[in-house]
Amino acid sequence: MGGFQFQIDEPPTDVKAAEKRLDDMANLLAHYKQHMQEKSAHHLGYPINLEFDYAPLLQFQNLHLNNLGDPFVECNYGLHSREFEIAVLDWFARLWELPEDQYWGYVTNGGTEGNMYGLLVGRELFPEGIIYTSCDSHYSIFKAAKMFRVQCIKIDTSFSGEMDCADFRHKLLQNTRSPAIVNVNIGTTMKGAVDDLDEIIRILESCGFANRFYIHCDSALAGLMMPFIKQAPKVTFKKPIGSISISGHKLIGCPTPCGVVMARLMDVNHVMSTNIEYIASRDTTIAGSRNGHAPIFLWYALKRIGYKGLCTTVENCLKKAQYLALCLREKGVSVFLNALGSTVVFERPNDEMFVRKWQLACQGNIAHIVVMPSVSIERINLFVEEFTENRTAVLRDKGSSIPCVAGDIGQENCLCSLHDDRR
Ligand SMILES: *Cc1c(COP(=O)(O)O)cnc(C)c1O
Repeated sequence: MGGFQFQIDEPPTDVKAAEKRLDDMANLLAHYKQHMQEKSAHHLGYPINLEFDYAPLLQFQNLHLNNLGDPFVECNYGLHSREFEIAVLDWFARLWELPEDQYWGYVTNGGTEGNMYGLLVGRELFPEGIIYTSCDSHYSIFKAAKMFRVQCIKIDTSFSGEMDCADFRHKLLQNTRSPAIVNVNIGTTMKGAVDDLDEIIRILESCGFANRFYIHCDSALAGLMMPFIKQAPKVTFKKPIGSISISGHKLIGCPTPCGVVMARLMDVNHVMSTNIEYIASRDTTIAGSRNGHAPIFLWYALKRIGYKGLCTTVENCLKKAQYLALCLREKGVSVFLNALGSTVVFERPNDEMFVRKWQLACQGNIAHIVVMPSVSIERINLFVEEFTENRTAVLRDKGSSIPCVAGDIGQENCLCSLHDDRR
């Protein structure tokens, strides 16, 4: 679509011309819709669930809704959806086992805001603290460290993307004077790796950090999958963690970016609140004005699907991910899939057109597909077929051999001529 059509020019005064212009605008919007529908049909690379129907909520389209300020403080501003927001938060508090009178949280603008919030509570509790996070962490963690001017120490990861606990211990012991603010990844962006929360807590306690650490769980990607996988470690406030953040537009599939962050009320009361006369509320949130539609979307989606429905949904995603990994491996493609995730990592296609068509997220030598509920078996089959055809053609035309990705996903998963032991 050409950019010039989008230019915002002045409405003409001539009636005929004004009518024509309205027609043009309608046309442009129809084109845009079609274009986005085509893009949606091929969407594979990013962890966005596109399977939703929010038709009953269209009636709120023309309402202005703003959950300004603290969700738990009555304020002067009347156009809000705070009842929905609190219902959503209560649901998450039950999921994460924090009693209703002990939590504080809000519906954020996305996983990034939740990470910023969690790390900020950590820093306010421990102003002299150092942030520890694995090098596979989402860029929002490093951004928050920079914004809050907190020293940030990167921990190595194994090829699976999980934090290397030996390296964590080693780096902690070099900094025993400063408290530790640890970001634990529950599903890394690129590989869907889950850091070992229990081991991290053990290490903190055994290295003399008891009562001098704060843990934030970045669960943006897998926070809603872990609770529904039997063998997965539990992420819960019964463990000594300070906060959890998730994204609402990923697995749940909200049409606009949003998320949820939750912390302990005690901590928030202690460090985070200032009364603001102008809004007659407490200033506890990072954003001032907050999307009032997002809590209604979350409320609607969660109320429709329930814990049981999510359980089935997650199971299906894992199964389809295993199927995709198997199909690719059978075709000789190097592939890796974390046991607790639906993020299938494989060698990066050597054709940028192909990458763009399927909107694959790439990093160095690897690409990934995050299997979400909207990714059907048909779409997986179509992708595998197109990918293998394209790959064979590219390898032939460029006279190249199968790339080595042992450094990215481990020798045992690499099928290049050096590492393929199937022959
Ligand atoms: C997506 C993601 C984020 C950021 O979430 P946004 O909602 O895009 O701000 C943070 N951490 C991880 C692990 C993610 O996958």
